[in-house]
Amino acid sequence: MASLSSSHSAASADSAAQAASTVAADTSAARPGANLTALRDHNAAAVLTLVRAAGAGGVSRVELARGSGLTAQAISKIVQRLLEDGLVAESGRGASTGGKPRTLLTLVPDARWALGVQLGRDALTVLRADLAGRVVDSRHLPIDLAGWGPGPVLDLLAEEVGRQLASVAREQVLGVGVASPGPLDQQAGVLHEVTGAPAWNRFPLRDAVADRLGLAAEIEKDSTAGVLSVLGSPNRAFIHLDHGLGAGLVLGGAVQRGARTNAGEFGHQVLDPAGPRCRCGNQGCLEALWQAAATPDQAARLLGEGVANLVRLLDLDEVVLGGREVADAPETYLAAVREVLDARLPDPSWQRVSLTAAPAGRDAVALGAAGLVLARVFG
Ligand SMILES: [Zn+2]
Repeated sequence: MASLSSSHSAASADSAAQAASTVAADTSAARPGANLTALRDHNAAAVLTLVRAAGAGGVSRVELARGSGLTAQAISKIVQRLLEDGLVAESGRGASTGGKPRTLLTLVPDARWALGVQLGRDALTVLRADLAGRVVDSRHLPIDLAGWGPGPVLDLLAEEVGRQLASVAREQVLGVGVASPGPLDQQAGVLHEVTGAPAWNRFPLRDAVADRLGLAAEIEKDSTAGVLSVLGSPNRAFIHLDHGLGAGLVLGGAVQRGARTNAGEFGHQVLDPAGPRCRCGNQGCLEALWQAAATPDQAARLLGEGVANLVRLLDLDEVVLGGREVADAPETYLAAVREVLDARLPDPSWQRVSLTAAPAGRDAVALGAAGLVLARVFG
């Protein structure tokens, strides 16, 4: 779900503004989430997931029955609905083991769209992803999260969403996922005291975005959204290096948010109790040491110590590095973290850990936020 091909629509500023006001005007009539149709059904979502996994080669109804454990009759009904909704297409015929050839089914990636947003401290990322999780349009707009406050940021968001949806039928838009710096209450959809941005304290971000855009909305901590941008190992971490250090975690195939949906405060593990003061109030946090590092290599090695701690604590086999700092110097970070990991793990030949830079680059967190919306479709 990480391929990235960025393109920009040729909509003029006028038409973008016009579309944005349409978005605002649609709000009262909107029924967020009403366009999920057949996909509210868990079995249909499971079948669609199998079709997506089959890729361009396609999959037969018989294989879908085998893969899902559903009866041939149930598969036939579900596929019929998915065909009627335009989510899958019949795409030629596969080899048969006898009898008549089997019709193959493939996903129609542009049948629906998901929007992904990253609220950064100085940039707003807005992208549109297709059902296959590919980015088809992406923009990074400068903002001042703390200085502007919610009103002007949501104005800009509505304008950009209007531009990106100008050529898209509204019923094809599944919703919008918004990633934000924490702490936040992911289930209630409300921000807590975002460090250094008091105008956003207790802001009901999810409902405000849903009302403003007339779309079903979800929110997620930025680092947790990042881990959703990669369909990788069931035991993986996404390390988000931006103004601070966070980690998104998937363990046993499930996203881990913790008791208050704030798991992953990776940067605030104390490595030196006598170290420099951290913005969280403690001393010697990894984040404070990383920020005080004299050289990029030293910063990367400190990060490696934190990653090694995390891998040993959770027995991870995949670590993905993302965020602006990594996008700027991927080789520096990958080399240094690899070296520290190999030194710290007792038996690196057995404890193999995949270490990569986020394939979606600067779009990773926003793409993961779009993945929140796509996840509801695919179950
Ligand atoms: Zn700290």
